[in-house]
Parts: sequence; C-alpha cells; structure tokens
Amino acid sequence: KVVCVTGASGYIASWIVKLLLQRGYTVKASVRDPDDPKKTKHLQRLHGASERLQLFKADLLQEGSFDVAIHGCDGVFHTASPFYHAVKDPQVELIDPAMKGTLNVLKSCSKSSSVKRVVVTSSMAAVVYNERSRTPDVVVDETWFSNPDVCRANKAWYMLSKTLAEEAAWNFAKDHAVDLVSINPAMVIGPLLQPTLNTSAELILNLINGSSTFPNATFGWVNVKDVAEAHIKAYELPSASGRYCLVESVLHCSEVVKIIKDLYPAVAVPGKPADDNPNVPLYQVSREKYKSLGLDYIPFEVSIKETIESLKEKGFA
Ligand code: NDP
Repeated sequence: KVVCVTGASGYIASWIVKLLLQRGYTVKASVRDPDDPKKTKHLQRLHGASERLQLFKADLLQEGSFDVAIHGCDGVFHTASPFYHAVKDPQVELIDPAMKGTLNVLKSCSKSSSVKRVVVTSSMAAVVYNERSRTPDVVVDETWFSNPDVCRANKAWYMLSKTLAEEAAWNFAKDHAVDLVSINPAMVIGPLLQPTLNTSAELILNLINGSSTFPNATFGWVNVKDVAEAHIKAYELPSASGRYCLVESVLHCSEVVKIIKDLYPAVAVPGKPADDNPNVPLYQVSREKYKSLGLDYIPFEVSIKETIESLKEKGFA
C-alpha cells in the first residue's frame, strides 16, 4: 500500500517512515526542502528507502501544496507542524502553519478518493490546558480538550496552535466525512534518527549539558518508537477511532534529573528549579485507549537512556 507522511524529516515522522518502510509500505514523504541533505539523507538511508521512499516538496502554508504527495495514497500521516517555544509572532510562526496547514492537508485528502484514513499528530498540549484541576488522583483521558482561552491567557502559544489545529481537523473531518484519528503524545523522547536537534530532545540535552537549573514543570513522557507504532496501528486497525493520549509516565523535571543522576552518576545535572512557583501538578493519564491498539509502553528509564545515548552518538552531548 501507498501512504503519505507530511513533515517526514522531523523527529517523530522519521520514525514513522522507518517503521512503515520496515512493514513494506511505499511512502510518499513530504519535506519543505528536498535539496537539504540534513532533512533527507537519514530518510534515504533507511532500509527499503531506495525502492519505496519518494520525496515531495510541500509547505504547510501553500494552498494545494500536498496534492501531489497525497494523490493515490491509502493513508495519510499528518505530522508537520512547528514545535518550538521561542517565537516572536505566534500567529505567523505557530498558529497559521499548524491550523491552516492541517486544513490544507485535509483538503488534499478529501479531494483524493484513494485516501481511506488520516492520522494527525496532535499533542497532549491539545488535551490538558483547560480550567480543570490536575492532582495526583485525577485521571486525564481522551474526553479532555484544551481551552484556547486558557492557552491565550498563559501565552502558551504552541499549546494554542495544537489545540486550534486539532479542533479545526475534527470540524473538517465531520463536515467532509474524512475518517480521522488523532494521536496525542506528551513530551516525546527516545533515539533520534535525524541529524538535527528537535525541541523535546533539546529539553533532555539541557538537563545534561551543565545547566544550573531545570524547568519547574511537570510533563508527561513517551518514547518516540511507541508514538510511531501508535500512528501506524491507528491507521491499520479498522476499529481505531477518535483520539489517543500517549503518556507513559508523568514526572516533574526534578524527578527526571534524579533518574538521570542514578543512570549517569558522572553527569552534572542541574540542582535547582528555574523558579520557585508552587503548585506544579502531578496527574495520571488513562492508558486504556493506547492499550486498545495492542501496544505497551517502553518504560521511562529505558527511554531516557536511549535519548542520552543518541544525543551522545550524534555529538550533541
Ligand atoms: P520536528 O521539529 O522534528 O518536526 C516538525 C516537522 O514539521 C518538521 O519536519 C518541519 O519541517 C515541519 N514543518 C514545520 N513547519 C512547516 C511548514 N511551514 N511547512 C512544512 N513543514 C513544516 O518535531 P517533532 O517530530 O517533535 O514534531 C512532529 C509533530 O509532533 C508536530 O505536529 C508536533 O506538534 C507533534 N508533537 C511533538 C511532541 C514532542 O515532544 N516532540 C509531543 C506532541 C506532539 P522542517 O524540517 O523543514 O523544519
């Protein structure tokens, strides 16, 4: 079968491409700049790529840009979306590419009669940012949606971009009878295939590169290999539907630092939080839907070790 992966050069997408090629799929991969070897070489080196990987140039903000890549595909994995926090103009840099880009991709999908299902990479950022309180006995699940007003009030622009993009995707799917599934991972860690540093791996790099403080923040964490597998199962299993929260564990960065110190006693980890704001909430996330895909999570300790080994191997650490 032929499938399309948007933003194929990215951290999560590269793993999706690798696993799809391993399973025998023909992959039409969209990248912004097919002539940049940093964005394509690691994909072209994947097993099966020389026979079954095709690269296409596409930009989220260009109308119809994805038509050619999506034409003739049975499934589409839409992962492309900017993920970084240091933005000057959130509307232009994050919200427009996330939201308009998602609609742009979905329009191409609905034009193409071959597309049977679209899997979009959303985020826990589109799940947990609302007025509901999170405490250790609260179990977050797929019925939770982030509230754009809460994101705006906190200037949480990336969270806003993912919330608006997912909302737009569900509305489009309803109006145009698109079979849509969303994957909502928390902070993704694990080995990097691409030669560049992505935002979630950079968070771990900052904990091992001599910084004096760690973020005073609690994150959910999940391994990139589990995230990629979940995307593929969500496409392959006819029974898959709706949203899938992907969180192996919820840990404050102070806990992450302790685990790194236990695994790597020689590493100088940061000793204190970046601020002393109180009330950083811990919470639980339901595993039921993820398990219904027939998958189990890679434990956090394994994921963090894989991340650090990969950062070292790539020369970042
Ligand atoms: P990367 O930064 O590695 O990948 C982002 C991809 O989006 C890149 O391929 C990038 O292309 C592409 N992209 C960005 N802007 C545009 C644009 N205007 N036109 C076309 N492509 C564009 O990040 P991740 O792999 O981490 O993120 C992939 C997806 O996963 C995103 O949707 C992100 O929101 C989501 N996600 C990530 C999490 C994480 O912790 N990593 C957690 C939850 C969700 P280029 O390489 O050319 O810049």
